[in-house]
Amino acid sequence: MCHALLQDPSFFRLLLRADEELAREARSLGCACGGALHRANYPRKPRACLSEVRADFESRFSFCCNRCRRRTTSMSVRFLGRRVYLSLAVVLSSARHAGQRTTAARLASELNIPVRTLQRWSQWWGEQFPLTPLWQAHCVRFMPPVDTALFPASLLERFAGDAAEALLRLLVFLSPISVRPVALNEGR
Ligand SMILES: [Zn+2]
Repeated sequence: MCHALLQDPSFFRLLLRADEELAREARSLGCACGGALHRANYPRKPRACLSEVRADFESRFSFCCNRCRRRTTSMSVRFLGRRVYLSLAVVLSSARHAGQRTTAARLASELNIPVRTLQRWSQWWGEQFPLTPLWQAHCVRFMPPVDTALFPASLLERFAGDAAEALLRLLVFLSPISVRPVALNEGR
């Protein structure tokens, strides 16, 4: 069951390693101006984070160019944009399978996610996510079409593997929207 992953330190460490890899890739590309990237992480106060791994989740990998000073923030499977809750919580507590509202509701209450936050996420999945360049570019690859009314559960179902593999694959798929939209084209 996917929800057990929220209590699994090894899954959190897997996410950390994936982010470290994304950061290495971003850094190796350097800045668009030709300058070198130096580490300049953003401090974060992550919610829905396990205490065992919290110290490693209190920064978002980011870089600063030594020449033009421009920021480059690498894509992330841990942080979905500026949201304070970790991506896995945003996915799992929004994942309402048809007729399974109670599981997600219980999860949200265990994580102390306010109802208004859940409503905002639900609106984002239902209205904004389908319009993102990411989804617009990839939706045709899913056959039969994914039921957008059941995002993100209907999307999670399409990724192969056990619960951890499927969730990690979905978070990797979503990682381009963890950075500003302009980075979408650069990272493709
Ligand atoms: Zn630069």
